[in-house]
Amino acid sequence: MLDAVEAGDARRRVPRTDLVLADARLVAAAERLGRSTVKAAVVAAQEQARRGELAPDLVPDAAVAALPDGAASMRPVINATGVVLHTNLGRAALSAAAVGALRTAAGHTDVELDLATGLRAGRGRGAIAALAGAVPAAEAVHVVNNGAAALLLAATALAAGREIVVSRGELVEIGDGFRLPDLIRSTGARLREVGTTNRTTPRDYAEALGPETGFVLKVHPSNFVVQGFTSAVPAGALAGLGVPLVVDIGSGLLAPEPLLPDEPDAATTLAAGATLVTASGDKLLGGPQAGLLLGRRDAVEALRRHPLARALRVDKLTLAALEATLTGPPTPTALALHANLAGLRDRAELLADRLREAGVAAVTGESASVVGGGGAPGVVLPSVAVRLPPQLAAALRTGTPAVVGRVEHGALLLDLRCVRPADDDALYAAVVVAAGFA
Ligand SMILES: *Cc1c(COP(=O)(O)O)cnc(C)c1O
Repeated sequence: MLDAVEAGDARRRVPRTDLVLADARLVAAAERLGRSTVKAAVVAAQEQARRGELAPDLVPDAAVAALPDGAASMRPVINATGVVLHTNLGRAALSAAAVGALRTAAGHTDVELDLATGLRAGRGRGAIAALAGAVPAAEAVHVVNNGAAALLLAATALAAGREIVVSRGELVEIGDGFRLPDLIRSTGARLREVGTTNRTTPRDYAEALGPETGFVLKVHPSNFVVQGFTSAVPAGALAGLGVPLVVDIGSGLLAPEPLLPDEPDAATTLAAGATLVTASGDKLLGGPQAGLLLGRRDAVEALRRHPLARALRVDKLTLAALEATLTGPPTPTALALHANLAGLRDRAELLADRLREAGVAAVTGESASVVGGGGAPGVVLPSVAVRLPPQLAAALRTGTPAVVGRVEHGALLLDLRCVRPADDDALYAAVVVAAGFA
């Protein structure tokens, strides 16, 4: 702080905006971030100087220090929640291969052009071929914006003005007020509910079928489990009813995952006789947000040719990231899911040791990770966390990088399952800064 006389003096000596903006660092920043962002940082620094909180000759330095890292406001977060697919944190983190593909596709790219012939080519054919190759049981595949769009397209193209037969136990809310029955009704298809909340039998379905039936829909309850006196009809038993069977498996597993035995997958569901499977790309598949449609050629073609398909068309960035997810190395989602407990414990102990040396009250403890809203409800993955005083939670969330943990029983838990080992040093530094020991 400056005293009153100095402050008045400082006000007069605050450098002019155009002079500050000529600073080479700010000129370069304007090219990266846009002039208005840089100017806002300069104006804020000038204000500080006018209030006497900053020496006038430090205005350019303060403006440079206050610049955001990127032009978009979304910030990177270290996911220490232990929730593998955290909807509020953007579900699946992309692999380095997918990020590289995004960068390449960000410019002009041959998304819809055959460079050999110079003629127009199938849009995103690499991603389509990769998806078809990953699930040989599918005769054809199509990709739309997200799982909800996949269901919307299937309902519109195959059942508008007709009935969709569905169990009362599968009329689910996915989250944030998004209810499947509302989505289906919005397409003009009528819902024909069968069975009860806890029990639905093959006969319930059979009795509801008729000339009005568009298809039978089976929905995986991906965020809750019903226990007790329950029964549901497996896809295989619904396949022989003489009407198309659409199965919304939710999670995007393409093949069985031994770690999650109750989670349905596309290959098994198609082999059981489903006409069409719909799924999300950014759940257990570990890719970008996308809606995957796999199944019989005639059904997929009907969707692809429907006018609504164009409104649900995916971006070149999604296609690039999806292809790299399917053909590239294991995704961060797969790595988090399969993280070895002993390895997590070693990392947590090392991190806690280093933090204690830096004067932070840190210990390690057991933790329970979950897959999250993206699938496998009720499955607990044993994990390890560094336990910290809960007062650090807010400072960690607002630090750089932001760190989001879980406050439980009066402690802040940083569960390492979803933290990339390469981020352990950044996590350590973030905690030290948050604790005020920097
Ligand atoms: C997540 C989910 C959806 C919605 O998928 P989005 O990709 O989020 O649009 C639909 N059905 C089920 C069963 C789901 O789990």
